Amino acid sequence: MNEPAGRPGDPPPPATAIDPVCGMAVAPAVARARGLHSRYREVDYFFCGRGCKLDFDDDPEPYLEPGYLPRM
Ligand SMILES: [Zn+2]
Repeated sequence: MNEPAGRPGDPPPPATAIDPVCGMAVAPAVARARGLHSRYREVDYFFCGRGCKLDFDDDPEPYLEPGYLPRM
């Protein structure tokens, strides 16, 4: 637990990333090993499956909008 925590009371940084398309929690190491990883504007994104990655790669912007609600 030596990672810098955020604000007090925040949970520790998880070993998971959130799929920006569907909102699922994914393990970055697993996603990377399966090629379900994209880098966009210097930020890494990880996906639950090829469908989400392809959707994101096709047009990332909508998924990064603050108002976007991930759904399956
Ligand atoms: Zn997904």
